[in-house]
Order: sequence, then C-alpha cells, then structure tokens
Amino acid sequence: MKKSKFESGRQAAKILALLSVGTCLASLMAGEGTPLQLALAVLTLVLFVSIFTVAAVRCRCPHCGKMVIFGLWNATTCPRCKRSLTTGNKIKGKK
Ligand SMILES: [Zn+2]
Repeated sequence: MKKSKFESGRQAAKILALLSVGTCLASLMAGEGTPLQLALAVLTLVLFVSIFTVAAVRCRCPHCGKMVIFGLWNATTCPRCKRSLTTGNKIKGKK
C-alpha cells in the first residue's frame, strides 16, 4: 500500500528528530568551545528547523489543511475536522 503524504512526512520528521537528538548529545560530549561542538550545535539547529519545515509542508490534514504538530507522533485524526489524517475520510463507527 502506498504511504500517504502525511505518513511519509511524519516519518521524515521522526528521522530528523532522532538525528537532532544524536547531534545534540554528540555536541554535549564534544569538548566545550571546540569547533566540533560548534559544528554539532549548528547541525542540531538546522535539523530542528527542518523538522518544523517538514511538518509545516507535509504534516497537514488532507481535508482541511490544518497543520498537525502537537501530538504528531500519535495523531490519527485532524483536531479541526476530525477526519483521518492519512486518508482524509470521515472516521465512522470507530470507538
Ligand atoms: Zn482537517
């Protein structure tokens, strides 16, 4: 089954989040004030920005276009229109 734009966007955001945690930890372990630490800190910042860029561009409700950032990891329905984020269909008969 083909992945929806929302799902692939969420996956990309997840990978970026993991990478940014990695670079953040690495920068903490690198010597203080070293060029390596500076480079890792900049990389962490860049990754953070890309997470929000990916989320802003791809993690939107396919039905109403609402951006989903909060609760993105577990979100299945749109907070505004309550439709499925992956298909844009109305959720019916689900409990
Ligand atoms: Zn929506």
